[in-house]
Amino acid sequence: MALTIVKDVCTACGDCEPVCPTKAVYPHKGLYAIDPEKCTECEGEHDEPQCLDVCMEDDCIIPLDS
Ligand code: SF4
Ligand code: SF4
Repeated sequence: MALTIVKDVCTACGDCEPVCPTKAVYPHKGLYAIDPEKCTECEGEHDEPQCLDVCMEDDCIIPLDS
């Protein structure tokens, strides 16, 4: 399972990049993206997905399969 960043909502603030324990978040075309191969949804590391926790935009980070 992985999360993904909705391009139309992301403001490219960059807050989610440093908090990711698996370094799945990376700058991409002026915004940020999540590498689904690296995203673990923070399982085993944190109770909540850390990127979701810091992102100030509603519905910006969502499940990849939604
Ligand atoms: S859910 Fe966790 S592992 Fe996945 S991108 Fe967000 S911070 Fe990184
Ligand atoms: S915290 Fe949210 S708005 Fe900021 S770069 Fe990450 S996904 Fe985009």
